[in-house]
This record gives sequence, structure tokens and C-alpha cells, in this order.
Amino acid sequence: MKMAMLRLATALSVVLGVGASAAFAQQYPTHNVNMLVPYAAGGPTDTVARVLAQGMGKPLGTTVIVENRPSAGGILAPEVVKNARPDGYQILIHHIGMATIPTLYRTGLRFNPLTDFEYIGLINEVPMTIVAKPGMPAKNLKEFLDYIKANKDKVTYANAGIGAASHLCGMLFMSAIQTDFLTIPYKGTGPAMNDLLGGQVDFMCDQTTSTTSQIKSGKIKVYGITSSKRVASLPEVPTLEEQGLKGANVGIWHGLYAPKGTPKPVIDKLVAAMQEALADPAVQQRFTELGAVTYPKDKQTPAALQAHLKAEIDKWAPLIKKAGQYAD
Ligand code: ASP
Repeated sequence: MKMAMLRLATALSVVLGVGASAAFAQQYPTHNVNMLVPYAAGGPTDTVARVLAQGMGKPLGTTVIVENRPSAGGILAPEVVKNARPDGYQILIHHIGMATIPTLYRTGLRFNPLTDFEYIGLINEVPMTIVAKPGMPAKNLKEFLDYIKANKDKVTYANAGIGAASHLCGMLFMSAIQTDFLTIPYKGTGPAMNDLLGGQVDFMCDQTTSTTSQIKSGKIKVYGITSSKRVASLPEVPTLEEQGLKGANVGIWHGLYAPKGTPKPVIDKLVAAMQEALADPAVQQRFTELGAVTYPKDKQTPAALQAHLKAEIDKWAPLIKKAGQYAD
């Protein structure tokens, strides 16, 4: 008898639990959603986040607040989101770093991109540019490479820490030109750009999302873009490849994540809101101006992000191992 009662109670609580979570998901969101950014405000990831967050606010019927949780390498924000309540109120935007970090950090990484998250979808892909301080004497890539080789003991390269896109690009660039240079880590390339503009650091590789306006206004020097074709927003900037430099191409893709265990109906709402935002002409125009290419709708899905992440981890692991540049 006691056993039967217990079974009934368990069954009831399951039904009630499911009912409660269904009601919760139906009402979601009842207040602001926080989108965590792993890098400093004013940088390229932050820019993508702000455009997307604004676009998602309308379909969600609430404000999506961008919250910067900067750390060198961008490893703090994923950990925070992993440990957040899986209720759809804390989500994470991250880039290609989610695929390189697991190989770069051999010990002590406190999250696993493949097991700790629910996936919302792929957002866009952005090329990077090799840019230098205003006073850099080199007039083109060839002169710039000569300058680096002649000054390799003192030339400084800014990045956003090991695991950042700027780290990855620097690593590829070093190996393509077969020259090592000094790297200076920041908690995002927003602050790094300020130092570049001020001449405290010599050069960096950063997404067009951040460099386009500085390049257009002639405030910094540019020596090439890491895409296979020139981008429409910066038609005068040659690709690295067309200047004869192979092996440094990289596209920085962005994805949206939620903590593992977030109810499916909540994820479905986030997916729909992200897709609606990405279809918004104002969002599309802004991304195009910044050199970003939005993924087609069939990639703006949890399954596509999961598959892409896995493929990118497998793609970068051997290259990182070959370069031997680890965080620990
Ligand atoms: N561009 C940075 C990176 O290298 C990140 C940022 O500040 O948005 O990953």
C-alpha cells in the first residue's frame, strides 16, 4: 500500500513538474534576457552581440541585455553560462574560440563546449584584417613583412588572449611568415584597438566588425584581409592570399548557446527570435556594413551549430598541436 502511494505521489509530481515547466516555457520570457559576451565592450564580438540582441528583443517581447564578462581568451563567460540556471535568461554568444579553446587549454578548463550547453544556432561569419598603428612606416604587406622580420625582437602584436580569434589569426600569421613576434594579451580587442590607435602596440589581427570604420577613416594601417575574396564593405583591402601569403585565412563564426538542460520550448523561442532577428533588414544591413556574412536560415539552428562546432574542434586541434602554442 505504502509503495503504491509512493508511486502515485511520484507520478503526480512528474505530471505537475512537466505541467509547471510547460507553463514556465509558455510564459517565457517574463523579464529581461542577458546575453553574455566573453570579451570587453567596444570590440567585435560585443558589436555582433549588440546588433543581434536588439534584433531579438522584438520577437521575444523583452529586452535582451548585453553583459560583458571579459577575460583573456574568452574563457570566463562560457563558464558563467554553464553554471547559470537553465531557464533561458542567461545565454552566451561566442565565436570560433569555442572550437579552439578545448585544444589550447590542456588542463583546468572548467567547461566543455560539447557537453555543457544547449545550442541555439549559427549567427554569422566575419573575416579578419591585419592592421597596424597609425605610425607604422610600411606601405604594403611586403614592406610590413620586411619590417616585422627586421624588428622581430621588439615588434608587438596585440591579441585578446589565448583562445581569442586574434590569437588564432596571430598564430596562423606567425607560421605563414615563419617569424615569431611578441604578443600582448588584452581582455578583448576593444581595449587593444585603443592602444593600437595610441601607438602603444604595433599591430593586430581583428575582425572587420571592429576595424572597418577605423580603416575607412584612415586611422590605422591595413595590410590584408583573411578571406578568400575581398569583402564588399572594404573593396580596397586586398586579401592576404592575392598578395601571395597562404595559410593565414580564417573566418570568425559566431554561435548562440544556453546552459545544458534549458527546456526545449524555451530553446525553440530563442531559435525563432534569433532567426527573426537575422531576417530583419536593419540587422542584415548592419552586418553587411561590418563585413559579416549571415548564415542561411538552415544553419541558424541548434543542430547546425552543434555539427559545426564539432567539425571545427576536429579541424583546429591538429593545427594547434602542430603550432604547439598552448595556454598551459
Ligand atoms: N576580437 C577578439 C578576439 O580576438 C574578441 C573581441 O574583443 O571581441 O577574439
